[in-house]
Amino acid sequence: MADPNAQRIWEAALGQLQIHVTKPNYDTWLKDTVGLSVTDGQLIVGAPTEFVKEWLATRMRSLVSQTVGNIIGQPTSVTFEIIGRSGNGHANDDLPLATAAPQSATSSPTPRLRPDPKYSFANFVVGSTNRLAAAAALAAAEHPGEDYNPLFIYGGPGLGKTHLLQAIALQATSGKRSAQYVTSEQFTNDFVTAIAHGRSDEFRRRYRSLQLLLIDDIQFLAGKERTQEEFFYTFNDLHANGCQVVLANDRPPAALLGISSRLRSRFQWGLIADIQPPDTEMRLAILLAKARQQNIGLPPDVAQFLADRTRDNVRDLEGSLNRVVAYARLTNAATITLDIASRALAALTTSANSPPAPETILQAVATYFTISLQTLTSKTRARPIAEARHIAMYLLREDAHLPLKHIGLLLGKRDHSTVIHGVRKVSTGITADQQIAQQLSELRALISR
Ligand code: ADP
Ligand code: MG
Repeated sequence: MADPNAQRIWEAALGQLQIHVTKPNYDTWLKDTVGLSVTDGQLIVGAPTEFVKEWLATRMRSLVSQTVGNIIGQPTSVTFEIIGRSGNGHANDDLPLATAAPQSATSSPTPRLRPDPKYSFANFVVGSTNRLAAAAALAAAEHPGEDYNPLFIYGGPGLGKTHLLQAIALQATSGKRSAQYVTSEQFTNDFVTAIAHGRSDEFRRRYRSLQLLLIDDIQFLAGKERTQEEFFYTFNDLHANGCQVVLANDRPPAALLGISSRLRSRFQWGLIADIQPPDTEMRLAILLAKARQQNIGLPPDVAQFLADRTRDNVRDLEGSLNRVVAYARLTNAATITLDIASRALAALTTSANSPPAPETILQAVATYFTISLQTLTSKTRARPIAEARHIAMYLLREDAHLPLKHIGLLLGKRDHSTVIHGVRKVSTGITADQQIAQQLSELRALISR
């Protein structure tokens, strides 16, 4: 059985980790973990499967240990154990296989994930900055194929695009319509797998028999020409049959790089609706709604404090609320006060203001990729090391704002064109390769400590 103290510490850590890792990463690796026991300098965390345990131990250990160390106030080593599917009341019995297995290794199509009930229209706060997108999404769910087809929703990260797509899927399926939410990455994986197993007919039948197809993060199709072509025909087929297509992306169709012009023009046939960052009233309304959903009393001054410090990302807003709630629980506070909120968020405030020191970046990259600083700055061009070095170049440039020449010197006397090349590789990689984006966000979390 889990030790309540370990569980409390681990919940507080999860509250912080949620802010620092991407949502898919959090949901896949951290969501179903539990704090098992805590002794001097050591915390044992339970993971639902061997696969998750391995991943946490190899890829997240340093981030997790630092987070826990900060919470407890002393260096702590974190180890992971398997809790098994029924070993602990907390483990999720129907943990979908899709989250536990590496996507690219599956031989069958992506299992159909049911939309998450928390992403309902009822839980979506509507205001001036998302009114059009929300209304068009509701119309698409209620009258698929009739009003705006396709509907293209775009907006910055954490502004509710995925929430709206899932809300459409929820609403449509509860009305007995066949609707499918997929990310364009899942669509690509499905397609590639179907081809590899000679099952492209099945793939087509499956996608083309839908009444609503909701595709998230369309930018991932960039540069994938065959998948784009297949998607083009799927789209035409669905559209001709009056089926609703809804797409979401972080930028408008015209700004999609690496997507064929015929697809881009299709995306502009229907309605393009943007979502802008929420204004103050909306931020307050969202905080109060999230607190209500979790049965948490959130005093108005604390809500205002949170709304003032996180402006352009609802995910971060939610993350800061979770962090405050976890901190209040950890310190056994009866109510959430302004004092608790500002203490819970203090670490974030200081790190956000000054650029990180170059040494901190280099050390974090070395730790993260489990190589030594010497290797990172050496002449070796072995691929994993060169890739780690490119990431270091990128962070030194983007976050520490160092001159190219200086970066070259720090990384083993390389000339500035090598640095430009490295930085560029990473910046183009971010949109095409989700893993790079994830690595960067985890690294930034390490660096900001
Ligand atoms: P995106 O896909 O645009 O990056 P998400 O849909 O994942 O963003 O939203 C991030 C988080 O913020 C989710 O937990 C979502 O529920 C929440 N969220 C975003 N906008 C709203 C809103 N208007 N009302 C309620 N929650 C919201
Ligand atoms: Mg999203």
